[in-house]
Amino acid sequence: MNSCIFCDILTGKVKSTPVYQDDQVYAFTDVNPKAPVHVLIIPRQHVSSVMDVQAKDLPLFTALYSAAQKIAKDKGVDQNGFRLVINNGPDAGMAVHHLHLHLLAGRKLGWPPG
Ligand code: AMP
Ligand code: ZN
Repeated sequence: MNSCIFCDILTGKVKSTPVYQDDQVYAFTDVNPKAPVHVLIIPRQHVSSVMDVQAKDLPLFTALYSAAQKIAKDKGVDQNGFRLVINNGPDAGMAVHHLHLHLLAGRKLGWPPG
């Protein structure tokens, strides 16, 4: 595997601001936030993209979305609302090839996304 910035965040080689963690998942604030609340939720296991999740890895999604529920509550945005996004591939603007769920909140989010 080539170097992966999110794997470097997981090992502590690259600094991040933690928001939530458990044995499967780590969440941290996005360095270039697109909303007042912008958290990235990643699996500790390196999976390159949503297309690389195999049947045996499906519990990862449970862990990612379960973390999102907890973070939304913790940040106090569960009532007003939030958006969960996985960008995949160039048309979606995917920049980091380590599966990640964006949790965006704290303002009205336009629809459809740009
Ligand atoms: P995506 O376009 O879905 O691949 O999103 C990648 C996200 O990672 C972007 O929102 C970046 O701002 C964010 N990002 C990249 N490097 C870091 C970092 N070192 N710490 C926190 N967020 C990062
Ligand atoms: Zn990685």
